[in-house]
Order: sequence, then structure tokens, then C-alpha cells
Amino acid sequence: MVLTMTNKNKPIVIVGAGIVGVSTALWLQKNGEEVILIDSSQPGTGASFGNAGLLAQWAMVPVNVPDLWKSAPKYLLSKSSPIFMRWSYFPKLLPWLVKFMANATESRSRKIIENLTPLVQDSVDQHKNLVRGTQAEKWLRDSKFSYVYKTHDAFKADAYGWAIKSNLGFIPNLILDNDVRDEEPILSPEIKCMAVLEGQGHITNPLGYVSELFGVFEKNGGKFVNKAVKNLNLADGKIRSVQLDDEEILCQKAIITSGIWSKNLIQNLNIKVPLETERGYHIIYEKPSIEPRNPMMVTEGKFAVTPMTTGLRCAGTVELGGLNAPASKKPIDFIKKVSQKTFPELKFENISEWMGFRPTLPDSLPMIGEVDNTGIFTGFGHQHIGMTSGPKTGFILSQLVTNRKPNLDIRGYSPDRFN
Ligand SMILES: Cc1cc2nc3c(=O)[nH]c(=O)nc-3n(C[C@H](O)[C@H](O)[C@H](O)COP(=O)(O)OP(=O)(O)OC[C@H]3O[C@@H](n4cnc5c(N)ncnc54)[C@H](O)[C@@H]3O)c2cc1C
Repeated sequence: MVLTMTNKNKPIVIVGAGIVGVSTALWLQKNGEEVILIDSSQPGTGASFGNAGLLAQWAMVPVNVPDLWKSAPKYLLSKSSPIFMRWSYFPKLLPWLVKFMANATESRSRKIIENLTPLVQDSVDQHKNLVRGTQAEKWLRDSKFSYVYKTHDAFKADAYGWAIKSNLGFIPNLILDNDVRDEEPILSPEIKCMAVLEGQGHITNPLGYVSELFGVFEKNGGKFVNKAVKNLNLADGKIRSVQLDDEEILCQKAIITSGIWSKNLIQNLNIKVPLETERGYHIIYEKPSIEPRNPMMVTEGKFAVTPMTTGLRCAGTVELGGLNAPASKKPIDFIKKVSQKTFPELKFENISEWMGFRPTLPDSLPMIGEVDNTGIFTGFGHQHIGMTSGPKTGFILSQLVTNRKPNLDIRGYSPDRFN
């Protein structure tokens, strides 16, 4: 069956209703476009479901910085580390890992940071622009954000990242020794240093937020198809339709915002997409007895802690192990161990657990752009910063798709850059 549209113009189809897809859909609607959003699951239930909800304006420093050459072996050999490897997956991972590490040089890191900065640095305002006047505003909070360190020396050891952040205006207030507990009474007396950034923001329920935004999309007349896209059909080198199991949806343009699953959809096009997943985990302490006043990063565990409507969420760690293996126990145990040490007085009723797939390209930059004049656009690969940069990405995509020029240099995000 061919699903035809009643209006003369064919719609724009977006495949994937995570934060990136839903944001793109809303910006296109604001521009008067007719949009069909397709997702095989419910909106917001992919990686967008379980993240830490941080609008990480300061997160322009990627994982693969030069220091990684020193720290990665230490992490991988340590029994208590926030980075985990499923060694059975290692042979498959290796080509991606080689490319990822090749980007951990001074000059390439600088280039990556230059490209990540415009995607993240004003993200609180980007979110506010997107949700203004909608119910989704209720999930958005202005807040401070802190990195917590056991010692002042541990903060100093993070000098590389802080120098970059500070140069871009993210200058931390340092709180030391006993003053730490005045700032955040939940912290253990063992924590002796906090680097606090003012003027940040977070989401108090990522699923609620994306669902609410999706509700706005539907209220504005957007159509949702709850099915898997199997293929993209081209005619004369241009997108003609997206193929579902039992129907074909004609479209003028197609936008692929399917997170880690995007690679499958565009593998038949003439581009190389070395997309790999950095698996991440969260636990939620439900009905916690105490909560932090603001979200924070527990640097010892490389996980964020965010007070949410569902409880106290501790989300982070990286596990390299592909898409198919079941969730591992070790990252969850690790988050529990470090968080209980960091918040020794915390009591709770229950713990829920989750694992999700961050989509990461070897240069830590997303692919945002048109594939070879096909009318197919990419919007995926947002690694650790997809919640943060989803609205900005959606705005850029809405401009590209409607032949308007974004006011930033997007060459670094080009979908054919690995060819
Ligand atoms: C533990 C953890 C903590 C994180 N914390 C943060 C944070 O604090 N701040 C931040 O900015 N980022 C964070 N992230 C990263 C962030 O969650 C992701 O970058 C972001 O959610 C990616 O969004 P997306 O829309 O690209 O993909 P997704 O949310 O994964 O959405 C993709 C959608 O595509 C659909 N789909 C896939 N294939 C098909 C198909 N063939 N047909 C139809 N539909 C399809 C899926 O069902 C899914 O709904 C974190 C990630 C993890 C794992």
C-alpha cells in the first residue's frame, strides 16, 4: 500500500522521535512545514529516556582528548573504574577505537572543541526558545552545576578541560574543605572540593520532556507513525519515500534522527558511517531521603547526579560492548558503590536501573547535513550531549531542509567526512 498525502506537496519525514527528531519536527512546524514523525517505539524511549538530563553547556571537551592516551589503559586495567570493556566485542570495536584514539591529539581535539562549542554553549536558551509557551516548560530548570572532587589536587589534575572551559567563559567558583557541605549538605565530608558553574540548567524528567514536546507536535497537526522504517527509497538519486514493512510513505525530504540505529538506515548510501555506541547506565534512588540542591558530576565515578521527578538519578559511565549484549552488572554496581560513598546519609525506597546507547562517531561530532544532494539529511551521533544539543541540531536541520543557511560553520558535521 502507498500512503499518499491529501495536500499537493509531499511531507518531510523524520525517522526517530528522540530529543533530536522531536526538536527538528517542532522547528520545521514553526516554519510552516508538514511533518510526519516515524518511530518504531514511543517517542523519547531511546537514549533520550535515561540520560542525566543535563543541559551541559560546558561539555565541549570530548572524551577523546590527548590525556586519554594516559588515562585509558589505567581505566581499563583498574578494578574500580567508570570505563568498562566487553572484551568479547573488542575485535569488532577495534577499527572504530583506532579512529577514536587517532582523534585524541592536541590539534584534532582543538578542532572538535571548536565544533562542539556552538552546539552546546547556549543550550539552556536553545531549550527555552523551543519550549516557550508549552507545557514542556515545567520540566526545564535553571540551576548551578558542580564537578565534585575528593581533593583540590584532583581538581587541579583536570586542568586541561578547565582551561578550555574557562577560556569560553565557564569559570568555576571553587569551594573547598568544610564549605563544601554548606553548599551541598548531601555530600560526604570526604569530598573536599567543588567546582561550581552558575547559570546552567537541567531537565527534571527527560521522558516527560520529550513526550510533552511530542504532544505539542501532535497538537500542531503533526502526524506520528509508530512503525519501523526498513529502507529509504530513492528515484534518480533523490529520496522518494521511506519504506515500512507494509507501506511506503512518500516524502519530499527525509531526516534520519534515529540515534545509534541510524547507521542501518543509511548504510546503502554512498557514505561511511563509523558509528559506535558508548553504552551508559543509570540508577534511580526512588523516594530519596535527601537530594542535592543542584545537579553535579561525581568525578570519581564519571556519572552525573540529578534530582528528578522520579527520584535521584545517577547516570553515566561508559561501556564499550556494542548494541546486542545485554546490560552488564558491573557498571550498575560501580555507580551504586561510588554514589553510596559520596552520599553516605542517603536512604531510599527502591533502586531502578537502566542501560542506553550513546551514538558516537570517532571524532565525537554529530553528522548534521544533507547526504550528497539526495534530500536525505542526517541528525545523529550526539554522543554524551544529545539532550543538550537536540534543539540546536533541530534548528540547524530545519534551516538546511528548507534551504536556509545556518549562521554557523557546519562543515565539521558533514555526513560524508569519513569518505
Ligand atoms: C547514561 C547516559 C547519560 C546521558 N546524559 C546526558 C546528559 O546529561 N545530557 C546530554 O545532553 N546527553 C546525555 N546523554 C546522551 C543523550 O541521551 C543522547 O545523546 C541523546 O538522547 C540522543 O538522542 P537522539 O534523539 O539522537 O536518539 P534517541 O533518543 O536514541 O532516539 C532515536 C529514536 O529512533 C528510533 N528508531 C531507531 N531506528 C528506527 C527505525 N528504523 N525506524 C523508526 N524509528 C527508529 C528509536 O526507537 C528511538 O526512539 C546521556 C546518555 C546516556 C546513555
